[in-house]
Amino acid sequence: MNIENKLKISQKAFNTWKSVPFKEKQQLLKNLAKLLDENAEKFGKIITQEMNKPITQSIAEVNKCALMVRYYANAKNILKPEQIKTEFRVSEIHYVPKGVILGVMPWNFPFWQVIRFAVPAILAGNTVVVKHASICFGSGNAIEKVFLEAGFPKGIFQNLEIGHDEVKNVLENPIVRGVSLTGSEKAGGEVASIAGKNIKKSLLELGGSDAFIVLEDADFEAAAVAGAKSRLLNCGQACNAAKRFIIQKNVEKEFLPIFVKEYQKFVAGDPLKKKTNMAGMARPDLADELENQYNKALKYGAEIILPLVRLSPNEFVPGLIKVKAGNPILQEELFGPLGMVMIAKDDKQAVKLANDIPFGLSDTVWTKDKKRQQFYIDNLESGTVSINKATSSDPRLPFGGAKSSGYGTELSTFALKEFVNIRSVVAK
Ligand code: NDP
Repeated sequence: MNIENKLKISQKAFNTWKSVPFKEKQQLLKNLAKLLDENAEKFGKIITQEMNKPITQSIAEVNKCALMVRYYANAKNILKPEQIKTEFRVSEIHYVPKGVILGVMPWNFPFWQVIRFAVPAILAGNTVVVKHASICFGSGNAIEKVFLEAGFPKGIFQNLEIGHDEVKNVLENPIVRGVSLTGSEKAGGEVASIAGKNIKKSLLELGGSDAFIVLEDADFEAAAVAGAKSRLLNCGQACNAAKRFIIQKNVEKEFLPIFVKEYQKFVAGDPLKKKTNMAGMARPDLADELENQYNKALKYGAEIILPLVRLSPNEFVPGLIKVKAGNPILQEELFGPLGMVMIAKDDKQAVKLANDIPFGLSDTVWTKDKKRQQFYIDNLESGTVSINKATSSDPRLPFGGAKSSGYGTELSTFALKEFVNIRSVVAK
């Protein structure tokens, strides 16, 4: 079926869907959550086969989607008309769904990213079409099928099997009223400029180079376990992974060996085997890019703590490098199994290093001292600040970036208001 016809189906579905009561929509979400859990192994296998994620992590991703869908299935309806006190007989705020929303989605969490975008948009009364990453059309089709199986009418969720060069045409189509993109800054900038030119709302969830700050009074064991996991889960291909480990100078000697030991527990293996904790990267060109970034970092003075070793077109022995302020690699996102260590003499310098990058997604600080915690909460420039735990997105809490990490909010009830028009209704 051609794209124009698919968009017409979405538009037709929207005309009915927008008036379906919130509670009825939530009932369908309950079915969806159940089906996701029941089929977690099957969907997990699709994910692993498409982008190499270890199967246990793929299954966990699908289960986490079910958790998120269940959160929305039970969420409070914050889209009910709100009464405002004025001199008029009626003064109300209404939340009106925009229509057909396009999702441009990446390969790193092929189910999570799509469902995180689609579910709140759909619950708010919109319909969605998704352009998934070119290596993840199988996941896109499986998600379309499971929506239908859960009882959502045809056209509420549709997967478009198109290349990225076709996104412009879809977004320019008058039927499409907004776009949500998760991916690189480059793709985000291009898509947002098309949306802007066509006066359509955009939401961007882009890269990050999150700081993971370890201070002298941290629980070193817990920080080391959480830090290694945060950097190397999904072979390091997560926007909110810890990428820069900023360690207080006077504990470098004590903390680093513990951290390195945890780091070395991640070993590339067969992604379909349940004992594998790390596999290859999603595509060889992404591995090439990571290797180029490693060489660039070294050229500008980075020191090797653990060398990044290429084992095959997709696989690495994870690397760890010590980087000083001013190294141009700090301006880039390292989307793979390569971590950076930086040393800070005090809190002021740690904050300066943490903030001195283009991104601002989700920083982490390890300290038991409440005063110091507050200092970091007040001064870090990121969408999330986590204390004594690694960042991981939680359906109940808003998720979004500052600076070049993007704009707009996903998850929590905030996401329900991203693709609605706010209408004032006033009557004398
Ligand atoms: P992209 O940003 O290129 O891909 C993400 C999605 O955007 C895919 O569906 C892709 O389609 C689409 N896309 C790419 N370019 C355009 C464009 N010009 N117009 C419209 N859509 C577009 O990511 P890559 O796969 O190339 O990865 C490159 C880097 O991006 C990574 O190394 C990482 O730094 C970052 N990234 C960040 C993610 C995050 O979670 N924030 C997720 C993935 C990547 P297609 O597959 O057809 O090219």
